[in-house]
Amino acid sequence: TKPDLVQKLEKTIQNIPDFPQPGIQFKDITPIFLDPKLYEEVIKDLADFSRGKIDAVCGIESRGYLFGIAIAVALEVPFILIRKAGKLPPPFVGEKYDLEYGTAEIEMRTGQLKPGQRVLIHDDLLATGGTTEAAAKLIEKQGGEVAQFSFLIALKDLHGTERLKQFDAEVHQILE
Ligand code: AMP
Repeated sequence: TKPDLVQKLEKTIQNIPDFPQPGIQFKDITPIFLDPKLYEEVIKDLADFSRGKIDAVCGIESRGYLFGIAIAVALEVPFILIRKAGKLPPPFVGEKYDLEYGTAEIEMRTGQLKPGQRVLIHDDLLATGGTTEAAAKLIEKQGGEVAQFSFLIALKDLHGTERLKQFDAEVHQILE
């Protein structure tokens, strides 16, 4: 990643303390969309990381869609939505995962991912890695190969990157 892009993003992404709960530093990426040139640079960085290495992009609802679909279009590969449970019509496959309190589930439409395809899993931000880990398991369940993960931001203190090591895939983030 170009140092210049890192600097611009550090200035643009807003940190909102204690949202949505006390103690959480919420990263608001929405100001990126006010600057189309910056958005283009972000997509170029993320697309360059994955060029020639993947057959499909899976984006995680909902901010993973904002960049994931543009990466897929830039690389001319399919984009597949990973949704929170209860939103997709059947047939779909799901994967449950643990949250700090309770559990959550993500789902994908059956048949969109072809066995053997090399997949990039993309989301805006990696925190504990729980969501991304579930997404990777969902890909493997369908015979896909988890080749890469990419994020705009990885929150280092939460050790998400360590959690993704089990998948033997490349990991890229623009900001840490
Ligand atoms: P995790 O499963 O803990 O890695 O959480 C990742 C998901 O939660 C991503 O889809 C993020 O968009 C969202 N998320 C977690 N922490 C934050 C944060 N501090 N700021 C913004 N989004 C967050």
